[in-house]
Amino acid sequence: MVDRTGKGRRALVTGAGGFIGHHLVRRLKDEGYWVRGVDVKHPQFEPSPADDFQVGDLRFLENCVAATQDIEDVYQLAADMGGIGYITKHATLSRNNILINSHMLEAARLSGVKRYLYTSSACVYPATRQKEADIRPLKETDAIPAEPEKGYGWEKLFAEQLTSYFGEEHDLDVRIVRFHNIYGPLGTYQGGREKAPAAISCKVACADDGAVVPIWGDGKQTRSFCYIDDAVEGVRRVMESGVVEPLNVGSSEVITVNELVDLVCAAAGKHLRKQYELDRPQGVRGRNSDNTLIHARLGWEPRIPLREGIPRTYRWVWGQLAAEGRARPPEPERGKVLDASLTSAPAHITAD
Ligand code: NAD
Repeated sequence: MVDRTGKGRRALVTGAGGFIGHHLVRRLKDEGYWVRGVDVKHPQFEPSPADDFQVGDLRFLENCVAATQDIEDVYQLAADMGGIGYITKHATLSRNNILINSHMLEAARLSGVKRYLYTSSACVYPATRQKEADIRPLKETDAIPAEPEKGYGWEKLFAEQLTSYFGEEHDLDVRIVRFHNIYGPLGTYQGGREKAPAAISCKVACADDGAVVPIWGDGKQTRSFCYIDDAVEGVRRVMESGVVEPLNVGSSEVITVNELVDLVCAAAGKHLRKQYELDRPQGVRGRNSDNTLIHARLGWEPRIPLREGIPRTYRWVWGQLAAEGRARPPEPERGKVLDASLTSAPAHITAD
């Protein structure tokens, strides 16, 4: 179990203006931590509950040193990243993230930080293992020999290595989490950096019943999506675990994009028609998380099913769009949980 007595302990969350970082700050505050958040921007949708929030660019060592002053635990979530349409800016993104990660590690060493958790990604896994929709789930040892995603995946894999080297050479007590597609309320849902559940929720919320919804690719690509509460729980458990090698934090509930759209439509109470845009980026063909190792080491794995997480997410996105005057009726039901059979029996959308 996670120790919930953070009282008096001082934690830094970098990327605290972002989706997961903001939720993590809230969780640490609930546990009684003193929390500093750092980001180039404040959270988009609500104020940060951090005790101290520094607006700073962590590509610069002096800002990383200021951020880590008097800190015991670092959660390094700051990254230049985004959805599938964004992470093609390989040079810009890799350079930014290598600067952030190398300077944050060095600052943690200089400032005498005790524990340091780095947030990596399933994008470190070899492309050859993700060519089929019906793939074997990815386990931690699959990452090396390496053939990660161009740019973002290489940079994440190298930052994992660098984190381990700091652990070995400088006695920093490190943790490495590999997130697989985290989703939920308070996540970006428009503008190019949004992920599939939020992007689809946005399209469905803005559509009139019976309209056409555009889908990137043929919809048969597979993914798993992990609800934000599970992601934050996983981060806290990994930090407390003492496990220094990388651990997947992802759901093992695999779903096609078509089925995901069906789930969102069911949450929305709408019947829509899919229109496939085959020239849009689709990412890997199939990806799922193997949770054998995290289960063995922590006795826990993500557990919130899509039929619970998707309605919560859709309702939040719909509310945001309603405030902008863009959401189309009906208003989604509060506290809705979908029928368990929906992930295997899509019923609400017909394909064009
Ligand atoms: P996010 O984009 O919402 O948050 C990242 C934050 O980092 C942003 O608020 C951004 O402003 C900040 N940032 C970027 N450059 C910075 C800089 N130079 N200095 C200071 N702050 C800077 O992303 P997220 O979804 O919250 O992801 C958090 C971490 O988890 C990232 O490292 C990401 O790579 C990793 N991850 C996320 C997912 C996912 O599905 N969300 C999947 C795999 C890995």
